[in-house]
Amino acid sequence: MASGGEEGGMQKFQRKKPCGLCGYSFFAFPGVITYKSILEIRGDWGDADSVDKLNKSNPTFLYNQVKLCVYCSQFFDKNSDKTKKNGG
Ligand SMILES: [Zn+2]
Repeated sequence: MASGGEEGGMQKFQRKKPCGLCGYSFFAFPGVITYKSILEIRGDWGDADSVDKLNKSNPTFLYNQVKLCVYCSQFFDKNSDKTKKNGG
């Protein structure tokens, strides 16, 4: 009797990848942003090294897209919030 040879392949075709801002690994990235914005917000947080990079890097490099996790994407969520405060 030939028993069915099941090749126990635990294949993970979804790998975690590091978030562009915090560096933690996630499966899903709801946000995408340019590397420039990453450096800008890091500079806001007092990271002088990022400010330095921001000034010295090529524009082509700065416009690379970076993936953001759920947590980090909230920092860049203020885009569609302009219509609320309309003092005017
Ligand atoms: Zn993150």
